This record gives sequence, C-alpha cells and structure tokens, in this order.
Amino acid sequence: MRVLVVEDEARLSATLRDILTENNYQAAVAGDGVTGLDEAMSGIYDIVILDVMLPGMDGFEVVRKMRAENVKTPVLMLTARSETSDKVYGLDCGADYYLTKPFEMEEFLACVRALLRRPGDVRVDEIAFGDTRLNPANYLMLCHGRSIRLSATEFEVMRLLMLQKGAIIPKETLLLKVWGYDADVDESSVEVYISFLRKKLGRIRSGLEIRSIRRVGYHLQADGGEEADAV
Ligand code: CA
Repeated sequence: MRVLVVEDEARLSATLRDILTENNYQAAVAGDGVTGLDEAMSGIYDIVILDVMLPGMDGFEVVRKMRAENVKTPVLMLTARSETSDKVYGLDCGADYYLTKPFEMEEFLACVRALLRRPGDVRVDEIAFGDTRLNPANYLMLCHGRSIRLSATEFEVMRLLMLQKGAIIPKETLLLKVWGYDADVDESSVEVYISFLRKKLGRIRSGLEIRSIRRVGYHLQADGGEEADAV
C-alpha cells in the first residue's frame, strides 16, 4: 500500500514516514501543497495524508483540486486547528476524515487502516463501545434503534472517550485534543460538555455512563444496559 504524506513540518513528516514504513506501508513525502497535489494526481497512492497549513497551496485547495479532477484517493487531513468550521470545510472539500494535532500514532494508524479498507468510499467506520455507537458521517450517537445528534464538540469528546474503551482519559488530554493548544477554554468547559453528553446518553437510554475521577479525568463504564433492554 502506497501512502503519500503531504506535510511541511519536517519532524512530523519524518515521524509519520517512519511509523508508516514500520507498519509495512510504502511512504512518500511531499513538503508543500503544489508538489503534494502533483504527486496525488499521479493516482499511484492508496491514501493521502494531507496537512492543512502548507506552503504553496493549502490542504483544502489540494483536496478540492483532486476531487475536481475525479481523483478518488482517500484523504486524511491533519491540522493543528480544531475549529468545527475547519472540519466541516475540509469534509466539504472532499476529505474523508479529519485528525486534529496532536494525535496518538495508534489513532493515526487506525484512521489509515479504516480509510484503506474501503478505498474511494467515504468516512471512517462507526465507533462502538458497550451498547452505543457513534457515526462519524452524521454525528449521530446510537443505541438500540434510538439516536441523537451530537454537536461537533460533543462528538469529539465522546469519540475520544469511546476510543479509550473504558480507560481513563485525563481532562488535560481532552482539552488539548478537542480544543487545541491555544484555545481559551479551561477544565470547566470540559465539565459542561460532559454534562451535555450525560443528558444525551440518558435520552437514548444508553448503558454507558461517563464517570468522573476527581482531579484526574473521565472514563466510560458500560453498565449492562443491553441486558436491561433485552428483557
Ligand atoms: Ca503545516
């Protein structure tokens, strides 16, 4: 599988290339938008990892031009920004998925695998934990036929909690991943979103509970809502 990494930060680009090579992908690197677009247009890649802020041409423009030329290679966009409008804009431009920096390499590889499973198709698979699922294509949270739409921020918080599979995620990690380094938010904002999510979990009668560990963080507990529902 051939992967094209379009990223101007040399250190990140080298890290991604190394991690991809270690995982048996053939990785090529482009350091600016114009070279990246040229490479992507060749059609020889199975997936393109595309930074947003690039010299020459930004990532939005690169993916828009690819799609305009009917190049259907899956595109995973990377960005340091975490604003909702950027994510929506990136997806509207034709990207398949969006990963906000900083991200864990495990998460990065999981996204690459998911996008490669269905080449040319859209979106990453649903995320599931306990009796509840999240659909990244429409931001719906689902449980036994019931569903509720999440805001982009709620979705991101819930997604990170579910990916932990019940392990604790520190509040600082949530802040950093959902709102980014520069965002003017504090831990009380996280608590507000956690309370929104608890209400929405209740509305779809999910068996998941968001537990708070004082001064540490949050984790999900799957409490057997499935059995309760099956009776
Ligand atoms: Ca950049």
